[in-house]
Amino acid sequence: MTASTTGARVAAPLGWRVARLVHRRVETPTAQTLVLEAPGWPGHLPGQHVDVRLTAPDGYQAARSYSLAGPADGDRIALTVQQVPDGEVSPYLIDTWAEGDPVEVRGPVGGWFVWRPEETAPVLLVAGGSGVVPLMAMVRARRAAGSRTPFRLIYSVRTPADGFYTDELRARARDDLGLDVTYVYTREAPDGWRGEPHRIGLADLTTHGWPADGEPLCYVCGPTGFVETVADLLVGLGHQTRRVRTERFGPTG
Ligand SMILES: Cc1cc2nc3c(=O)[nH]c(=O)nc-3n(C[C@H](O)[C@H](O)[C@H](O)COP(=O)(O)OP(=O)(O)OC[C@H]3O[C@@H](n4cnc5c(N)ncnc54)[C@H](O)[C@@H]3O)c2cc1C
Repeated sequence: MTASTTGARVAAPLGWRVARLVHRRVETPTAQTLVLEAPGWPGHLPGQHVDVRLTAPDGYQAARSYSLAGPADGDRIALTVQQVPDGEVSPYLIDTWAEGDPVEVRGPVGGWFVWRPEETAPVLLVAGGSGVVPLMAMVRARRAAGSRTPFRLIYSVRTPADGFYTDELRARARDDLGLDVTYVYTREAPDGWRGEPHRIGLADLTTHGWPADGEPLCYVCGPTGFVETVADLLVGLGHQTRRVRTERFGPTG
């Protein structure tokens, strides 16, 4: 067992435990932040995830992974779930799961895709869609720890309406010294945005990322194809592979 500077105690996964929904917050028409009470939660680091398991009345079970959306906060954990059309688990969590209802959770899971507030290297966060969730946990942990480590977030979304945490990110970029937030729109950009909608490319990373010689830590998260493209571009720009950490959420949409 280790202790982080946030005071969170990070233990080996302890098996399944029952958690209940205490609050939900709408992020977009198809995504919600779900706050769970998970008694005995051992704490976690930003970037880690949990497995959520549902059990049907006939005993059928389905489990999926969801990133933790904020730093450790006692027995409370927050997840942000994007509804996948015709999915087995995400539509249940968004549409059917009621306050007080139980699910099982297991975690925290993952030890590589994490950021520790005592790190001082500049950080580049590159998010595609719901891949912003664990990166937001890092932005929130940085604030909670009073860290001044330089952070840059490049966030690729289809349209402005698809962005998670829009108001909070605007406030963080305004108030948190050393945090820059840049959006890349793939389908429809807001009025006044420079350029045409496009998929993230080399120019976005050179303009809004960090040069490789500063040895930043890079965290890339999103759909599988997005992550592979961005990681390849970063390595092509000279970033060391061991400093490019990736998390793949699943198929490219
Ligand atoms: C480490 C990790 C962390 C994750 N964190 C989050 C998170 O914070 N928030 C979040 O919303 N999701 C997250 N995911 C994705 C999540 O685990 C599920 O894959 C997703 O919710 C779909 O599950 P489902 O049961 O609704 O769909 P399924 O029944 O599994 O799939 C239905 C259809 O959608 C496709 N599909 C499955 N997953 C995805 C996907 N991610 N994107 C697009 N299409 C998909 C399938 O190929 C299938 O055709 C994470 C995944 C991993 C591996």
